[in-house]
Amino acid sequence: MTAPVVRFAPSPTGLLHVGNIRAALFNWLYARRHGGRFILRLDDTDRQRSRPEYEAAIEQDLMWLGLPWDAKERQSDRLGFYDAARDRLIASGRLYPCYETPEELEFKRKRLLAQGRPPVYDRAALRLDAAARQAFESEGRRPHWRFKLSSEEVRWDDLVRGPQHVDEASQSDPVLVRADGSYLYSFTSVVDDIAFGITHVIRGEDHVTNTGAQIQMFRALDGAVPVFAHLPLLVDASGAGLSKRTGSLSIGDLRAQGIEALAIDALLARIGTADPVEPVASLEPLIATVDFSRVGRAAARFSEQELAQLSSRTLHMLPYEAVRERLGAEVNEALWLAVRGNLSVLSDAAVWAEIVQGPITPVIEEAAFLVDAAALLPAEPWTEQTWKGWTTAVAAASARKGRALFHPLRLALTARETGPKMARLLPLIGRSKAEARLRGQPA
Ligand code: GLU
Repeated sequence: MTAPVVRFAPSPTGLLHVGNIRAALFNWLYARRHGGRFILRLDDTDRQRSRPEYEAAIEQDLMWLGLPWDAKERQSDRLGFYDAARDRLIASGRLYPCYETPEELEFKRKRLLAQGRPPVYDRAALRLDAAARQAFESEGRRPHWRFKLSSEEVRWDDLVRGPQHVDEASQSDPVLVRADGSYLYSFTSVVDDIAFGITHVIRGEDHVTNTGAQIQMFRALDGAVPVFAHLPLLVDASGAGLSKRTGSLSIGDLRAQGIEALAIDALLARIGTADPVEPVASLEPLIATVDFSRVGRAAARFSEQELAQLSSRTLHMLPYEAVRERLGAEVNEALWLAVRGNLSVLSDAAVWAEIVQGPITPVIEEAAFLVDAAALLPAEPWTEQTWKGWTTAVAAASARKGRALFHPLRLALTARETGPKMARLLPLIGRSKAEARLRGQPA
């Protein structure tokens, strides 16, 4: 197999959400697995709605998720190529001018529906002669342009959906150029896919309906037809689709909530597939296992709760090196290893650093017991075994066990009801602070 060339093609008209990222991720993983190239293509031909700040946010999100691109292209820089492709289709008779107004088209549509017929465009414009077109032009009408579909059954082998076929005779000729001269995405996308040598178009299932006509466009422009993989859409717990408008699921918001990028990657790579959702410490295991034949055809269920849990499970396995740059100097490797298993979000590590380093005001439940326990603290150096040895001695002296033994010690030493393993925290707190805290002194 030759190295794949894939693209992620968002429109910079809004923030990326988990649904778009799933497409980006599968493109990226597929390219990495097979030694290919991943192109970021900004579909920004809609000048009204495209914004530089959305473009910047898309790039920031992809970088944060660990999905850098090998090349970046902007459709607004490529208008000349679209003009040339348009002229080629006009010359070969595949693109024809139409003069109907939206009202006229709506009228035709309703009439067909009333007759119980499919509302397919009747190609009336194909029958206009030069004089009739001239008459419309002199009325001030500007044409929009339709692609003349050939009435064949188009087939492709979708990597996710299996063999597909669309009978193009039952479809309206799609409009590729609007009356103002601007291009529709389905056309510019094909021109670019040919120009960049895209081998695999990996995108959401919402684009399946474009595929038949796009395959005909590839052929009409003498381009190689890429392989298609259409990913089922994401739905929420109630089965409703996650739309762009679900603001809380934008990648930027998830980042602000403290969700780990690797958790988003791991969840989106695996939900709706035959493989289990598991935390990962790097993208490597996801690269090694990406496989369209393991993606199910049903909608994939996305749960924010599952993401939050996966995010904390991700933290629990991350080595210090993976998080060092994001931690303050107060969190060293020993502290990280002691507390990571208790974190919901990374920023909580700093809270534990403050508790270990102090000063904190200990919570004293049974002062006499704690003073006796303080007297039994061994001499330093302390290790992770110190806690076991010390509490065994305290148990023997006090005849306590279980919660009655451990809970007052934890409260005095950390001022918290729960937290990381005391065996790990105790050597970090150190003898002098531990002794003071057991005696009820802030330290
Ligand atoms: N700009 C299109 C979108 O955002 C790209 C679809 C495709 O990948 O072909 O949906």
